[in-house]
Amino acid sequence: MKVAVIGAGWAGMAAAIAHAQAGREVTVFEAARTVGGRARAVPATLPGGESVTLDNGQHILIGAYAESLRLMRLVGVDASAALLRLPLTLQFPDGQGLQLPDLPPPLDALLGIARAKGWSLGDKLALLRTATAWQLKGFRCAPATSVADLCAPLTPRLMAEFIDPLCVSALNTPAHQASGQVFLRVLQDSLFSGRGGSNLLLPRADLGALFPEPAAQWLVTQGLHQVVTGQRVQRLQPQPGGRWQVICAGSAEDASPVFDHVTLACPSWEASRLAAGVASIAGLAEAGRWSALAGALKFEAITTVYAHSQAARLAQPMLALRSGPHHPAQFVFDRGLLDGNQGLLAFVVSASDGERTRIEQQVLQQAAAQLGISGLQPVQTVVEKRATFACTPGLVRPCMQVLLGLSACGDYVDGPYPATLEGAVLSGTAVAAIA
Ligand SMILES: Cc1cc2nc3c(=O)[nH]c(=O)nc-3n(C[C@H](O)[C@H](O)[C@H](O)COP(=O)(O)OP(=O)(O)OC[C@H]3O[C@@H](n4cnc5c(N)ncnc54)[C@H](O)[C@@H]3O)c2cc1C
Repeated sequence: MKVAVIGAGWAGMAAAIAHAQAGREVTVFEAARTVGGRARAVPATLPGGESVTLDNGQHILIGAYAESLRLMRLVGVDASAALLRLPLTLQFPDGQGLQLPDLPPPLDALLGIARAKGWSLGDKLALLRTATAWQLKGFRCAPATSVADLCAPLTPRLMAEFIDPLCVSALNTPAHQASGQVFLRVLQDSLFSGRGGSNLLLPRADLGALFPEPAAQWLVTQGLHQVVTGQRVQRLQPQPGGRWQVICAGSAEDASPVFDHVTLACPSWEASRLAAGVASIAGLAEAGRWSALAGALKFEAITTVYAHSQAARLAQPMLALRSGPHHPAQFVFDRGLLDGNQGLLAFVVSASDGERTRIEQQVLQQAAAQLGISGLQPVQTVVEKRATFACTPGLVRPCMQVLLGLSACGDYVDGPYPATLEGAVLSGTAVAAIA
């Protein structure tokens, strides 16, 4: 059975591996020159002229990302060396905030909350009471509930210094617009999946080296399979016998290859375009409905500002920042403590809004005001306008099966998680079962 996977992001590479392991011959088509999609390596130059490899956006994984870790190991990545494992920390530069101790759940959360710095007894009791109520209800709530509704019993300090940064970093959607149900599922899986589930896993290697590049290598070394980059799939042409011709931009139709099954692993807007094309050619109403659902998703941006100063050092690899309209970053990472790029900081602005240069300037001012670091030189600012789908209450997401012989995977496909690496690879692995 010949399978085409369209897109070499984390979902596409997971799908290609699963198809290959099911004994199919796989061709991955990737529009860009590199693999990795929205979690990829990008080249940059430091102010001194030295070349470095950065990421299109600073990413965090957590200990509960079991499928991501399994796949990394499968393709030969030493996850314990490639990721720095830390207990869950949401601490600010002044030392205030939460840090969980290395204990099994729920002791880690209980002790972490009891010891949180800068929180009053009222803050701590409100969080313990509310979290217990969530647990008693099995971490479920009505689909229309927002994170802000869910957290209404919490104090303004907990909202500003705990829930808002947690929600925007996990769902990339502000608390008043974010899905309470998805937020509860993330909390449940991170806090109660077992010891270490809530640990932060901070990449020490670039995102390409963490999974997509070794995954492409793994596929090729299995024989039969190939990953072709710089090939944007323009359209799919249904063929007799339920087969599909995959036509790339600039390729002649009669020379285009034919496959028994196609998995769309491109982002939702591209999958929607390709499915709409199929619907219009073949008059297939299900493909039209699927396309409309995928095409209706809305997006949130993420901006990562990389800045350098030889003397810049943080007390920890990652710190939370107090964000507001003029200080947009919620987190800062010390790449020197992660991948050895001394003096290089990565500031993350989730659910970002506005223009690149303004965000960059505001972040540099925020660094001076909150970290006391002046003299930072901007290295690279990456604005990913459609970084993730907006994870809103009651959102209906498209399913994995588009038509017989045409499936879809990706972070946006129906599933329990927001747009994350783990959501992407889980759907990639699962999609091979319906081919
Ligand atoms: C800045 C940023 C920060 C993030 N931070 C985190 C984080 O900390 N933790 C976390 O878990 N997640 C994070 N995410 C989300 C995570 O990166 C995504 O959920 C995940 O990478 C999505 O993978 P995917 O394979 O579903 O889609 P994509 O990565 O979008 O892959 C789709 C691929 O399809 C290709 N493609 C598109 N059209 C075509 C076509 N017509 N033909 C061939 N190829 C095509 C694209 O080039 C791309 O390579 C972040 C995302 C961004 C952008």
